[in-house]
Amino acid sequence: MTYDVLIVGAGHNGLIAGVRLAKAGWSVLILEKEPRPGGAVLSEELTLPGFVHDVFSTNQNLLLGSPFYAEHASALAKHGLKYAVGGKPYANAFPDGTALGVDQDLERTLASLRERDPADADGWLRLQELYDLFSPTLFSLYTAPVPSAAMTSALAKAARRLRPRGLTRLAQLLASSTRELGDAFFTTPAAKAMVACWGMHLDFGPDVAGGAMFPFLEIFTDQRQGMSIVEGGASRMVEALVGLLKQYGGELRVGAEVRQITTSGDTARQVVLADGERITARRAIIANTTPTALFGRCHRAAHPGLPRPQPARGPQSRPRRSSTLLTAVQAR
Ligand SMILES: Cc1cc2nc3c(=O)[nH]c(=O)nc-3n(C[C@H](O)[C@H](O)[C@H](O)COP(=O)(O)OP(=O)(O)OC[C@H]3O[C@@H](n4cnc5c(N)ncnc54)[C@H](O)[C@@H]3O)c2cc1C
Repeated sequence: MTYDVLIVGAGHNGLIAGVRLAKAGWSVLILEKEPRPGGAVLSEELTLPGFVHDVFSTNQNLLLGSPFYAEHASALAKHGLKYAVGGKPYANAFPDGTALGVDQDLERTLASLRERDPADADGWLRLQELYDLFSPTLFSLYTAPVPSAAMTSALAKAARRLRPRGLTRLAQLLASSTRELGDAFFTTPAAKAMVACWGMHLDFGPDVAGGAMFPFLEIFTDQRQGMSIVEGGASRMVEALVGLLKQYGGELRVGAEVRQITTSGDTARQVVLADGERITARRAIIANTTPTALFGRCHRAAHPGLPRPQPARGPQSRPRRSSTLLTAVQAR
């Protein structure tokens, strides 16, 4: 059996790659080892019948703001994808029975911060100023392929706009830990927790350098745009992508684990499934899996002489304090 492209893994990124290539006229087969597609996007009736829960990922702001969604929104809607954007994107609940949340209405957010300590409302506004200054640069880098002319141009624009002083401030902010970010802008533990929860979300311990970047972007993006969840559960997004893939002639096979990817020279040729079936790729094999699954398992199985990959080192394995000076960021 032969296809132009074989895609290993039907997470939403694999599905999106499949949709793009099928739309461009390639014959596409996506192979997924689990009984259903979606990877870390899955919704199920976990509690009571009729109550659907997103088991892993739930906030789809990034997909909603992506070039892919801009191009395919109406086609995805025809396949059942509908977003519900909540105006109260997130809140932290505390052991004493109180809570502190973010509201799309800035004044309401400030009022709830002020209730605990006026300094926290001021801190929110100071941090928001930095978000307005830096987020255009960060978002244009975020959506640019790496490396690419678009990325170089985004960096050049940032250098012109922010100048060395602004760039230094940005670097200091991004290299800070979650705790440093919270301490620099907020006074009460509750307000600091509004920042900390997003650092933990990406597995950054409180004192790990670099932990500030995600909270910095997430808190204000959520405050301004709300939180986009899928009506009927996150899996509806996956179902819509599968519908679109099929509409363009692409195929998906579930329960199909890829055990080997064979190569000749520097070209990937075939995948070998767990039951021994071989499928050939004419033009490409795309592995939408972790590097460990690709190089540690699939590629090694076909080439046992390869050196073993080093164990992954996540951010938590580097529990060192960042040495950045957030006070310099504050001074502006
Ligand atoms: C608990 C949790 C909460 C999250 N919350 C959010 C959130 O709210 N918002 C957000 O934007 N992001 C969130 N994320 C991150 C987001 O879900 C992931 O970044 C995204 O789902 C990754 O998609 P992917 O398609 O790249 O990979 P995955 O979803 O990991 O898909 C990879 C697929 O490949 C399959 N596969 C692996 N090996 C093989 C093989 N050998 N053969 C065949 N198939 C194989 C897997 O079964 C899987 O289906 C969260 C992640 C987690 C874990």
